Amino acid sequence: MKLKNGAEYISSLRKIKPRIYYKGELIEDVTRHPATAPHVRCAAMTYALASDDKYKDLALATSHLTGRTISRFTHVHQGVEDLIKKVKLLRVLGQKTASCFQRCVGFDGINATYSVAYEIDRKYGTDYLERFKKWLIHIQDENLMVVGAMTDPKGDRSRGPADQADPDQYVHVVERRDDGVVIRGAKLHMTGAVNSHEILVMPTTAMDERSKDYAVVCAVPIDASGVTLIFGRQANDDRRDNYERIDSGKPVFAAVGGEAVIVFEDVFVPRDRIFMDGETDFTGTLVYRFAAHHRANYGACKTGLMDVLTGAVTYLAQIQGTEKGSHVKDKITEMIHLCETLYSSSIACSAEGWPTPSGAYMVNTMLANVCKQNVTRFHFEVARLALDLAGGFIATLPSQYDLESEDVGQMVKKYFSGVHGIPTEHRIKIARLIEAMTGGTALVESMHGAGSPQAQRIMILREGDLEKKVRLAKALIGIPSRKKAARPAAGKAASKGKQ
Ligand code: SF4
Ligand code: FE
Repeated sequence: MKLKNGAEYISSLRKIKPRIYYKGELIEDVTRHPATAPHVRCAAMTYALASDDKYKDLALATSHLTGRTISRFTHVHQGVEDLIKKVKLLRVLGQKTASCFQRCVGFDGINATYSVAYEIDRKYGTDYLERFKKWLIHIQDENLMVVGAMTDPKGDRSRGPADQADPDQYVHVVERRDDGVVIRGAKLHMTGAVNSHEILVMPTTAMDERSKDYAVVCAVPIDASGVTLIFGRQANDDRRDNYERIDSGKPVFAAVGGEAVIVFEDVFVPRDRIFMDGETDFTGTLVYRFAAHHRANYGACKTGLMDVLTGAVTYLAQIQGTEKGSHVKDKITEMIHLCETLYSSSIACSAEGWPTPSGAYMVNTMLANVCKQNVTRFHFEVARLALDLAGGFIATLPSQYDLESEDVGQMVKKYFSGVHGIPTEHRIKIARLIEAMTGGTALVESMHGAGSPQAQRIMILREGDLEKKVRLAKALIGIPSRKKAARPAAGKAASKGKQ
């Protein structure tokens, strides 16, 4: 495992030169640019934990391919224990960064691709899994960060990939050569892209036979010729210059995951980096397995954030003298309850994990969808309670400039103080942290990351096995159910939820 800690990860990023734009200008060094450096530091925590004795058991794994010690973020789950360790690891990382640490997208892409490549090979006699293993061993040994690139722009949403006026609205193969393919298109909302080493390109949806050129899974170095990244804006990102560290709310880490557009302008991909090319019948399975793994994560990483937010409002209550109020205690209790409920579903879908034919383990997909669906509600409710407890002053606070001003600094200190003896600066800092964790784009990821809420509801209904539930009800009141040939539920090939 070449990159052994956060510092080595950061210096590895300085050695590559991806083409990244932000506010119309090229970023020379993502590790130092104020817009991207906080995100780099979040991802670096995934490396740092692996060198910390306290967390090694969670952060490291043994490669089933080489027997060597690797980062868990490059591991193919070999059992339920691996799935549960992932959940615990993500919660710790959420607690340490109070942000998205980005590396799980590639992790989930690796796991989905591994199991699907095995199944494609079995059906078509291809050699995708061997190619994928070779690439994965490189990722494991070098300990590289991979961005899982799935979401295409989609253009006219009423039409599929093959029916778009502009064929580039979905990433597709534009040329086939003996030694590889050339791809074109873009992926949007790519978490961690600007500070990853490699891109794992995957299709964004289930496709039919007419979309063969769009059914492509492949790996591309982040600085490959023809790849351009455009980093997104976030609320309050202008507060990130060094002077305004208090105003940013989080002096070290980003408020949320850093997302970018990845554009592929006729990028050549060598043959040994292609893991699906035209097998449209496996696109749905791949997307669904990826999504289920990622949905399972949200009851882990986001609960880490909720732990921090709960701690922040509790501390604020302590330093402004409100912590003994019964309604305060009750709201904090509710925050904890909601957080632990989410964590329970992440643990549950992992505990009910099952082996795919390749041996790679999948989560229980029904419970993973329920988990993510609940995140779209509970995280918002936790944030609502935090804002309720914090009070309106978190939205009206003067800036760090005023706090440090010779003219008005004393006024700010005097009139924003709380319990006697506690520096006003502490109250302002914790308020800014709560603001950063509840405002702007901080919650958008909980709503739309790993798929928007409706995507989970579709899968929950599909996997809900209503016919079985109807039979259960009828059996109890003595109404016979006619036996009929089982009609496979959509998505069943890709899933194995348990009801
Ligand atoms: Fe990982 Fe959570 Fe960020 Fe997704 S949202 S990449 S699961 S930290
Ligand atoms: Fe996410």
